[in-house]
Order: sequence, then C-alpha cells, then structure tokens
Amino acid sequence: MTSAPPPQTPAGITPRRTRLVRVPDLVRFQQAIAVASVGASPFQARRTAVIVPTSGAADVLRHTIEDLCLVERWAPGEADLATLGAHDWPVRPDAATVSVAMPQLVTRTGLYGLVGEALADVARIDPIAREVLAGAVAREVAAAGAAPPFVPRPALVAAMLDLYDALRRNRRTIDDFERLVGTALESGAAIDRGAARLLEETRFLAAAFRGYEAALDAAGLVDEHGLRARALALGAASGPLASVVVAVPDVAAAPHGLWPADYDLLTRLAGLDSLTVVATEATLDAGYLSRLLDTLPDIEIVAFAGSPSATPRIVRPAGRPADAPVLVSRDREEEVTTFARRVRAQSGDIAADAPVDAPSHAIALVHQRPLPYLYLARQVLGAYGISWQAVDALPLAAEPWAAAVDLVLTFAASDASRAAGLALLASPLLVPPPRGASDAAPPVTAGGIEACDRELADALFVGGRARLAELDARWRDDAGAGRARVQRRRALPVMDALLRAADALEPLATPDRASVQLDRLEVFLIAAERIPGAPRARERHLRARGAVLGLLRRAREAYRRFGDPAIAIDELAPLLRRLMEAQTFSPRVGPGLVHVVDAAAAAFGRFADATLAGLIESEWPASGGRNVFLPANLLRDLGWPSDADRRAAARAAFDDLLRLPSRTLALSTFTLEDDAIVRPSAYLEDLDALAFDAVDVAIDGVPRLALAVTPLPGVGDDRVGPREWPLAAAPPGPANVGPRPPGAYSVTALDRYRQCPFKYFADDVLGLEEDVDEEAGLSARARGTLVHDAFQAFFTEWAARGGGAIDEAALPAARALFTEIAERALLAIPPSERPLERARLLGSAVGAGYGERAFRFEAGRADGLVERLLEVSLDGEYTLGDGEAARTVRLRGKADRVDLLSDGTLRVIDYKTGKASTARTSLQVKLYARVAAERLRGRRGVDWSVGESGYLAFGRPDDIYQAAFDAGSRDEALAAAASEALAVVDAVEQGAFPVAPEDVHVCTFCGFAAVCRKDYVGDE
Ligand code: SF4
Repeated sequence: MTSAPPPQTPAGITPRRTRLVRVPDLVRFQQAIAVASVGASPFQARRTAVIVPTSGAADVLRHTIEDLCLVERWAPGEADLATLGAHDWPVRPDAATVSVAMPQLVTRTGLYGLVGEALADVARIDPIAREVLAGAVAREVAAAGAAPPFVPRPALVAAMLDLYDALRRNRRTIDDFERLVGTALESGAAIDRGAARLLEETRFLAAAFRGYEAALDAAGLVDEHGLRARALALGAASGPLASVVVAVPDVAAAPHGLWPADYDLLTRLAGLDSLTVVATEATLDAGYLSRLLDTLPDIEIVAFAGSPSATPRIVRPAGRPADAPVLVSRDREEEVTTFARRVRAQSGDIAADAPVDAPSHAIALVHQRPLPYLYLARQVLGAYGISWQAVDALPLAAEPWAAAVDLVLTFAASDASRAAGLALLASPLLVPPPRGASDAAPPVTAGGIEACDRELADALFVGGRARLAELDARWRDDAGAGRARVQRRRALPVMDALLRAADALEPLATPDRASVQLDRLEVFLIAAERIPGAPRARERHLRARGAVLGLLRRAREAYRRFGDPAIAIDELAPLLRRLMEAQTFSPRVGPGLVHVVDAAAAAFGRFADATLAGLIESEWPASGGRNVFLPANLLRDLGWPSDADRRAAARAAFDDLLRLPSRTLALSTFTLEDDAIVRPSAYLEDLDALAFDAVDVAIDGVPRLALAVTPLPGVGDDRVGPREWPLAAAPPGPANVGPRPPGAYSVTALDRYRQCPFKYFADDVLGLEEDVDEEAGLSARARGTLVHDAFQAFFTEWAARGGGAIDEAALPAARALFTEIAERALLAIPPSERPLERARLLGSAVGAGYGERAFRFEAGRADGLVERLLEVSLDGEYTLGDGEAARTVRLRGKADRVDLLSDGTLRVIDYKTGKASTARTSLQVKLYARVAAERLRGRRGVDWSVGESGYLAFGRPDDIYQAAFDAGSRDEALAAAASEALAVVDAVEQGAFPVAPEDVHVCTFCGFAAVCRKDYVGDE
C-alpha cells in the first residue's frame, strides 16, 4: 500500500499521546482494551470511544468488559495508563457488584456519528439521500455529454460512491484520480480500445464526483468527508472525545478497518489527548506494524503482559492422526448437527441450571458467513434443545418481511408474471387487499395456488394483466368438467387475488414521479400486510416493517429534495433492493449458551469452547471485493490495499482465533455446498504446527433430521410459502403424529398411502405442493383432463343422438363424432399443443388414436350395454371390512364411466393416459366397483352386481384394457380391497405416516423426495 502523506499537527493543538499496545493473543487483546478504555467515572467513559469492526463486535466486547469488571472484579479505571505494561492492575477486594463506567463502543461509522453530534451547525446528508443525489448527478452529467460506457443504475451509483469514498479516505483528490489514472491510460488509448473505454469511464467518474460535491455543497449538507474537514477546521480545544482506543487494524488488514484519513482525523481532532492502538503481535507482524509506523511515525510502542489464558485442547476425531484434528462433515447442516451433538455430549460438564451467559461455559460457533449459520442454528440447535444467541448484523433483506417486499417488487416489475404472482400469494405475510371495504376476499389456500399454477401452466400463461383478466373471465364462464372443474373451482379464488394484486400494482409499471411511486408502494404494502400472530414472530416482523417503511420514506424525501424523475418500478426496484441489502438488522436472538458469532466479533469474546466452522477455501480467508471500475494496477497508485496484505492479515487473524478459547478448540469443515464439491481451507494444511494437546471425540454417524410439521407461528392456514420447519432430532423410523379425527377419504388418496404413507402425509395431511418436473408441452395432468373431457363429451353427445353400444357397425359414426368432439376439446388447449394432442386423440399415420382404440375395445366386447353412466359420483358412507372389524367409512371418488350390462352386472372403466401397471394391485376401480354396485342398487329395477372392472390404458402399445381382477378372483379381490382400504383408514386415523415406499421405484417419480428422509429408507 502506498503510504499517505504524514499528518500535520496544526498550530494551537496540543499533540496527543499516541501509543501502540502490542499483545500476544486475543485474551490479552481484550484485557488491554478494558484497561485502556474503562473510565474511572461516567464522565470520563462518555468521552472515551473504542473503535471495533462491527456492531456485533461491540456487543460481544461489552459483555467481555462486564465479565472482567463484574465477575473477575477488575478495576481498570483505577489503573494509570502509564502502567499499562505492568502485570498487576488493580482488582477490587470485595465481591460487591459495582457499575461499569463503560466507554462508547463504536464502529468506524459510529465514530463519525460521535464527531457529527458534536458539530451543532453541520447538517449531514442521509445515506439514502446521498445515493439519490449521486444518481441524479450521474444522470445529469451523462445527459450533458460525458456519457459513461455504462448505465448509471442504482448498484453502479453505489459503486461510484464507494470509489469516491475510497479516494477521499485514502486522502486523494479528484484531480489526483484524474491525473494518475488518466495519465496511465492516455498513452494506450489511441491503440487500445479497452484503454480508451477506461479513459472515457474515468473522465465520466471525475465529472460525476465533481458534480456530486457541488450539489452537496449547494444543498448545504456534508458527507463523511465534509464532516471530517469541518471537525479538523474547528481548532477548538475541546472536542467530543478525550480518548480513543483503536481495536481494529487498518483497511489493508480488515474490511472494517481504518483508512489513512481516519488516522489523520484521530491525530488532529481537537480535545483528543490520548490515542491507543491495540493489536496482536500476529496482526502487527503481518504488515500492520510497518503501515502503522508509516502513518503514525511517532507512535510509542508498549508491550502488554496481561494475564495469559490456558491453552485450549484441540478436538480430534478418534482414530485420526495427530496432525489431522479436523472435523469433516458432508455439508453445513451436518456440520452444525455434529456441533450440537458435541455440545449435548458435554452436558455432564455443563450443569443444566448453569447461567447461560457464564463466561466459563460460553461456547462459540465461529463462522465467516452469518446467514447459513443463523438459519441452521435456529433449526438444529433449537431441535437439540440448546439455547443460543447471535449478535450479527444481517442485511435487512434477509428478514421475512423484506423478502415479502421483494416479492411485491418482482411481481409489479414483471407485468403480473405467473411465477412472481404465485410466489407473492404463497407468502404468509401478504394478502392482496380487497377491492373495496365491503368486499370479502375469498381465502387463498395452498391447494388453490397449486391448482391455479397448473391451470395457468396449461393455458401457457406467462404474464400480462390483460391476459390474466381474460383467463379469469373464461374460467368463470366455463367451469370445466370432471377433474378440471374441481381444479378450476380451487383456482378461482387465487385468480381473484392475483388480479387484485395486479390491479393495485399496475400504476407502478408506468413511469411517474419517484416519490409518487414510493407512496403507491407503501399504500399497497400496508394494505396487503399480514402480521404474524405469534409474539416473537410478530415482534420481529414489526421491527423489520418499521425499517422497510423507514427506507421508503427516506427515499421519498430524498427524491422530493433532489429532483423527482419519472420512473417505473423496474427502475425503482433495484434501488430499493440495494437499500435493503445495505441496511443491517440485528436478529436479536438470545441470551443462550452457544454464541453464533462471526470471526471479527469472536475476537472480542471470552469462550470456554470454540468451533471454527465452515473452514472451506472460499470463506477462510474470505474473498476480497473487487473494484468494478478500475483494474488493480491503476488502483494501487491511488493507495488501494494489496491482496497480499489482506491475505497475510486474514491468516494472522485465524492464528489468533486458534488460541481464543480456554478449554477446547474444534476445527470444522465440510465437503458439499449446494451439491457441489468444495475444497477445505488452505489454513488446514499446516496444522501440524499446532502444539495443542488433543482431546479425542467419537464422531459417530450423524442422523439426518426429520422434518416436524409445525407451520410458521401465527400463520394458521394451509398456505404454502416460506414456512419454518423446526427440525426434530427424531430417530429414523415411522413418523407418528398422533390420532387424527375421521374424515372423508378419497379413494385415490388411499392408494397413495399404500404407495408410501409419508407421501399421503405430505400431500393429503399437510397439503404440500408436489415438486413437479417442468415438462415440455402439455403436462400429464392437463393431458389426462383433455382425454377425460373428450370421452365424456363424446358419450354424452352419442347418447343424445340415440347411440347405444358401439359395435362394428357403429364404428364409422363413432369415429366421425369423436373427431368432431375432439376438435372442440382441442380448442381448450394452447394452439401450439394441438397438433400433438390431436394425433394422440385421433391417430396419425403411425398409429390409431385413443378414440379408435377405445371404440374397438367396446366393439370387441359386445356384451349388451344397457346404459353408460359417466362421471359417477360415489361420495358417501360405506361399510368396509368383515365381521367385528367392519365399520362405516366416508369415501370420496368419481368413476369415469360405469357400464350397466344386460346380464345384470356393471363394469367400471377408468381412463389412463399411462400404462396402468398397478391395475391389479391398486384399490381404485375395485372399490369403485364395489361401492357403485351398492349405490346403483335398484336402478332400472336391477340389483346390479360387479362383473368386471379395469382401466383403458392408452399408454400401452397393445391391449389397452387392464383388468383389475378376473372373474374367478373377483369376490376375493373386492373383499380384499375393502379390507385393505379399512386398514389404511385405520392407519391414517392413528396418525402413522412412516417413510415406507412400497417399491423404491415410487420414489423415482415422487414429488416429495425433498421433504422426506428417503436417503435412509434403504437402511431402515
Ligand atoms: S420419495 Fe419415496 S419415501 Fe419419500 S415420500 Fe416419496 S415415495 Fe415416500
């Protein structure tokens, strides 16, 4: 890194005492911070600030200082800083609780906040307003002629501001930027198009930066750089701070570190008479010391002895060699599960009633990426009954309400697309508001969303509000028939909700003043919001809601002040998403035994046991950000940190963390991330240098966790969407959810239970949406509906025209009518699908169609058809089982066709577009036949008995009729079907839903593989 010009001490300002405190490890790092910062009085504490990397680190450090002062009875405020290197600092002799004069623990941004508060006449620009202003200036500069080789969209405007900030924090001017970068590019621009483009970009950026500074000045506002300049210009003897402790390295060593301009501020700020930099030897030796001596050449160096801590023992999987003490899991979930099991196994050490925040017992799960670990902690640690806490500041965008807002933005910007609309409706936090105060919006259910998705897919609906309205009107006019009718009826409330959302958000799609668009969005969000009922979820929601609404309102004010361009939602949405990404939000979890904490914050904590988790190549070290505008060689001349400095500092920070816990240290990695193989961190390659004793632990097989089925607290209906599924550490085996009340059982659902009870559970109890592979063309379900509808319409018309049984003589007429009917039926499907489906129904040069094959089957029977009944509802109560086991059960079902024959028998026929391979084993047509005989008793004065039953399976190349039983086995098959159906009903009512597919092939086509534990089916 190129050194910045040394700071000048202005006349009239007393040079402050500036020291560097070298500490051997993180335990003494924390002690040194406490000694240097805890004030003897609240007044002194208020004028002392400790700069830490993140707000999470501030939280952790606060607890550490409290432990030192209140539990270990330190009295650091009574220590003279001159004796900082001594070993014997004051300790209170009595155990009485005293309060701690806590210093202000702030991030780098917080430091500027403190400085800004002390400057009464300085108005700081809001960060959102700053982005809006910079965006407006960029557009103006581009329109004035210095067109950039990119469109200044919100993310790029933010990147432009980052570049500007980095320049100023490196104490460079816009002229420096233009001169250094421009000079380097000018010579090559004539012959190199890339250089010419970069030069063009540099000129635009310089013009935009100047425009931004002028606009800021004209508005009478200051940003961080203006604030720094004002603070340094004051020259007063008294400033907001008397003492500052710097507990972060510089920006070359850590992303949240200090910049040259920050050191300049700290060495020249009025009233600040003590500046203490605290750093570990490892970090200093990784390059920080030489950079610090460049920046603060007069710094006094003090070695801090402190009180050393115990060396931890390293956790080693039993049987592994001494130089390989690494826990290796399959994926992150298994990693956290292994961690939880180790914590549980330690319960002998940790008394159940031990205070959860006792420092000697605190256990850390240290990570580099908060989100996956916070989600997994919630699920896995919760399932193992382990209390936990987290202090990470996460992006607001990770909150469920922010995710719901994102769904609204996507839907509004997508012109009512199917995927975006259904995702919006599936959110448990959103319900599109009714059209008027008196309207009662019909409820949206998971089943309805699924039905609507299928209907829209079959109609090849991709998006468009007008097309949505047209489909809605068509579905209301034509309710469909058979299964389609059921599906359409379920889909209609969802269509209504989709249309309400599309209507309410439609104005956002047309450019209008940004402030007006933000108003409209806010009105929709407030009207559509569905606040969770459960107290914790509600509290979390309301906090996130406040943050999101605050963003919208700040953005609206900014647009009103700095120009209000006409924009549509597709331009506004990226800015709002960026703001939600940039704003941090603390999840407020705790207190608890396990601290889920990022590596930067962990350095400030006291832990008995620590697990460094997720030790994979891309996270330890974390990859550095790349500047989107300029290559590294040009940035280096402007003072940018080098990758080598960053990597050396990251390794030093890792080495420090290895000695952080007082009892045990575990190193944990995994091999799979999103089904891709990941490499372990390079840090794990030289662990033989670790001179720790090992503690061997048995790492047995980690059982995969079973999904328990508890919907999101406060969301009581069956809507799909981002539900929370708490994991329960259930042993492998049958899932028993307890007795269930009797209901009406669909006969096809009973067959589903026999295929796999868990499949029934997922589909019929939970109403989960089945994962359906996207198919090209018409879906199997849509094709089935088309075939059923065509045959039903044909036989209805055939009977209306006086047609009876179809024999050889009637074949030509049947063919002609079926052609006519099929063409009509084909109008209901998208035109692009008609040729293929026409060939299936009516045949082609390569084979007979479904109609021809069905008629030939019937003509071949010649069994004296008396009446053909279509779509026969068999809903009702029936007695199933024999003897004492017999009982009444409510069944639901609809037979495609029941033929009444002249010999007093009936025949149930069901159409299948597949092969009906399970014709003999399934319950469906056997039960239909049995209950149809009961239901139709006395019709036409006949006591109908079951003759034959089966499927017309059009997926078969040969004989399409698949009989469910033979004449010889009929009675036995019907009785067995009834008994089996009763056994299934009993099992359902007992709540037994084991993962037990009748055949592993069932799993191949099952849409619930993602939620069951099928990996273990073979082992059970
Ligand atoms: S994937 Fe297999 S085991 Fe899992 S629910 Fe489906 S059928 Fe049952």
